[in-house]
Order: sequence, then structure tokens, then C-alpha cells
Amino acid sequence: MKFTEFNFGNELQEGLDMMGFEKATPIQEQAIPIIQNNKDLIACAQTGTGKTAAFVLPILDILTKETQNNKVNTIIIAPTRELAKQIDMQIEGFSYFTNASSYPIYGGGTGVEFDNQKQALQKGSDIIICTPGRLLAHLDFDYFDTSSVKHLILDEADRMLDMGFYDDIMKISNTLPKNRQTLLFSATMPPKIRELANKLLKNPESISLAISKPAEGITQSAYMCHDSQKVNLVREILRAKGRDLSHVLIFASSIKSVREIKTTLNKAGMKASEMHSGLDQDQREQTIRDFKSKKIRILVATDILSRGIDIKGIEIVINYEVPHDEEDYVHRIGRTARADRTGEAITFINPKQVKNFKDIEKLIEKEVPKLELPKGFSKAPEYKILSKNKKNKKWRNFKKQKPTSPK
Ligand code: AMP
Repeated sequence: MKFTEFNFGNELQEGLDMMGFEKATPIQEQAIPIIQNNKDLIACAQTGTGKTAAFVLPILDILTKETQNNKVNTIIIAPTRELAKQIDMQIEGFSYFTNASSYPIYGGGTGVEFDNQKQALQKGSDIIICTPGRLLAHLDFDYFDTSSVKHLILDEADRMLDMGFYDDIMKISNTLPKNRQTLLFSATMPPKIRELANKLLKNPESISLAISKPAEGITQSAYMCHDSQKVNLVREILRAKGRDLSHVLIFASSIKSVREIKTTLNKAGMKASEMHSGLDQDQREQTIRDFKSKKIRILVATDILSRGIDIKGIEIVINYEVPHDEEDYVHRIGRTARADRTGEAITFINPKQVKNFKDIEKLIEKEVPKLELPKGFSKAPEYKILSKNKKNKKWRNFKKQKPTSPK
């Protein structure tokens, strides 16, 4: 289906033409008419499917056809600052020829930024894109008149609940007019999301695209290896790909691991940078800019970068550690092969993480090929779940070595 069939206003259509958007993706094809009809919507779609445009375009279309009143019309809530900023940038692109305005509202930054956000709320940016905590901080003062809000959109709702934002979202929604349109987008539909939807949405339409399947264009593989082999394995993979490789994103499961991996890679002569919530806002933004402009070629990150973040041309995603949550695997590897491109995802599995990886394979309904370690590496461990007996035996031996009473 072509975008011209949605009867968007000319200015919005021009923005789409400028951005090279011609054909709607399946989520756009299904969601846009529902939103144009002012219905509430619960949509199950993962990132990389074009879901941002699916909710942004009809809202912009409605906005440009209404008379502007210098009041906030739409609130989009997203889990991370990076995602909020990215949505704002997409809106700027689409709305280039319209007179709709948007402003991102998230934490970090200085008092000046807080004041700018306050102005955007008071003077009425048409669309604000915010993280929950910072919006609540503004709502604590009474300069933001929410009575004009007609649309509330929750993006990556499952992630927001994982991050503990349930109460914040409820508090925000309680300050908004009851007769608004509410749209909820989530990659998965656990019971908590249904509960949230029951509380926030009125007679919603629902759309469900195939859940939790990595994009077709991603070539997946994995290595069984010991932790001590991982740095050399990264080096080998990068060497084999050659000098032209521009973007490598390496995921680890905690800030501590990210720092350790970065240091180890740097010591081994592979210049890497780090990205996680322990950095301040300026550092986070600079890192993303440098990675996008290819100043940084190897970026080691926590799952803060696994959801929604759209960086073109990431050729390889490496899971240095298997993610604890199976869904995160799909999100992490979705950072490559964005919108019809191809990419590669490689996972390192140590013997303790075999069970996790088997759970991932169950979720994606696919066995990921296990590759042989390159020549010169010592023997790889087997792809077998460590038996409980073995674990217990190790524990018994460990206990035997310990003195029974303090000396
Ligand atoms: P999203 O799932 O919203 O993060 O979108 C993933 C990527 O696909 C972004 O780079 C979008 O700009 C791009 N994209 C979304 N919809 C379309 C479309 N209909 N045609 C071309 N590119 C698109």
C-alpha cells in the first residue's frame, strides 16, 4: 500500500517524499487508518517494523488539519532518553513542511534544559516526547495545563514496565483528560501489559504482528566458548571481516561488564567506547553521535541501546554475553538489518549460559548455527546444559576446601 492512499495533507506527503517513504510497512498499513478514525489501539509490534511512523504520521496529519491553539496536543511516552530523542528527530523530518512542532522532555542535562522543557509545555509544543520520570517532575509544578491533550501514546510499553514505570504511567494518565485517544505499542503482551491496557484504553482495536521473530535479513550464528576466549574471538571476527567494517555493536548485560569488556578490547588494541546509563547525558549523546558518524567503530553497550535505537549501517551485533531475557536477544540483534537491510548477529555462549540460549532458540523457533572456533583456539566447550550433578559436585568440592570453623 502506498502512503498516497492515506490521503495525508500535502505538506505531510511532501515530508514523506523527502524522506523517501513510499510504501507503508504492515504495521503502518494496519495502524494508520485506526488512528485516523480516532480509535484507541493496542499494537504488538517489535522495533524495526516502522512502528514509529505508524503512530507519528496519523497524529501529524490530524494536527495539520486542525487549527493550532499553542497547547500540547499529544504526549508520547518512551522508556529511554535516546528513544525519546530519536522519535523527536523522526517527527522533525516528517513535519518539515508542516507547522506542527515537537519537543523531547527527558532527564539529565542542566537547569537551562529544564527551563526549555518548561517553556515547551507552557507555550504548547504540539507534540511532546518524554520519559516518565521527567514528565512527572514537571507535573509536580502546576504550569503545565494538560486539559488540551487529545492523544496519549505509550511506546515500548513492555520495556517501561520492566523498568518499573507502571505507577508513573498511571499517575501521568490520571492528570490527562478522559476523552483522549490512547495508543499502546509493545513488543510483547505479558499479562501486566493487558492490565495496563484495560486501565488506560477504551474499546481498543488491536493489532498483532508476528512477535519475537528477528528480521529476515539478519544472519545469526553463535560460538560456544570460555570467557577467557572471548576477546581473541572478537579480534578474529573483526580481522576476518576486514578493514572496511564500519560499525560493530557489542552487548553486555551490566555496566560493570561493559566497562571490563571495553578496557580489555582497548588493551588488546581494538579501540572501543562504552554506552550505558552510568554516563551523563552529554556523554551519552556524544557517544551516539560519534557512533553514527563512524568516529566510534566499536561500541560496547548495555541493553539501554537494545530497544528502538536506529543507527543505520550496523553490520554486526555481538552478544558478548547471552542476554538474561530472551526478548532482549531479539531486540539486540534487531539493531542490525534495520528496514530491509542485511546484517549479522553473533552470540558468545559460555557453558553456564547454554540453558539461556536454548530458551532463546525456543522463543525464536529456530536453531542458531554454532560455529567452530577459529584455528589456533583451544577446544570449545560443548553445547550442553551443565548438569545439576556437576554443579553440585563443584559446590561440594568447594565446600570441602573451606575451613569448617573460623580460626
Ligand atoms: P522503527 O521500527 O519505527 O524504529 O523504524 C525502523 C526504520 O525503518 C527507521 O529507520 C525508519 O525510518 C524506517 N522506516 C519505517 N517505515 C518505513 C517505510 N514505510 N519506508 C521506508 N523506511 C521506513
